[in-house]
Amino acid sequence: MTTKIEKQITAYEVIKPGSEQKEATVTQIAPLLERDDVLEGTTYKIKTPLSEHALYITINDVIMKRGEAGEHKRPFEIFINSKNMENFSWIVALTRVISAVFRKGGDVTFLVEELKAVFDPRGGYYKKGGKYMPSLVAEIGEVIQQHMISIGMMEGQLATPELEAKRAMAQKTLGEEGMKNAHCCPMCNAKALVRLDNCDTCLECGHSKCG
Ligand SMILES: [Zn+2]
Repeated sequence: MTTKIEKQITAYEVIKPGSEQKEATVTQIAPLLERDDVLEGTTYKIKTPLSEHALYITINDVIMKRGEAGEHKRPFEIFINSKNMENFSWIVALTRVISAVFRKGGDVTFLVEELKAVFDPRGGYYKKGGKYMPSLVAEIGEVIQQHMISIGMMEGQLATPELEAKRAMAQKTLGEEGMKNAHCCPMCNAKALVRLDNCDTCLECGHSKCG
């Protein structure tokens, strides 16, 4: 059938047979972040009782919208290095997976909670300063959190001065052994509830109950 078009064509649409009822479903896949030749990064040193040597965690960032309004940094890759890496092939695997997630773009802050929720079945450890770490994976998660806070991707702070003071006091008065006997906090579930000044005090979230 031919139809004579008498008006000016301003828009058109191609209709395929049977396509009227179907809603077009378009899956948006964010383009992978691209790597500049030179990236700025930050290296964090962590010391855990799980290894003799310190671990160095480097997170490199890409700058998005460079020179434009809304310029910001995003993490692009993570490397973890130590003098003795042979016992830590799983760390290399983990960093590759994390880097791949970074490069996918989108919201990557979920990684922090996922990693920080990993508990070592052999029990966690206390860091210098009295901060409890449920596992090395959790500590890597906290370093990523610290980095994301520093580049403005996440809000918050890791510890208030008040909480830091409580940790230092606990480490001084209870010692390593006393800290190891910490109980589970009813608020945050961290195994970081200790007795300070006759109060059960959580060294993770700061929850405190006297009695
Ligand atoms: Zn708590």
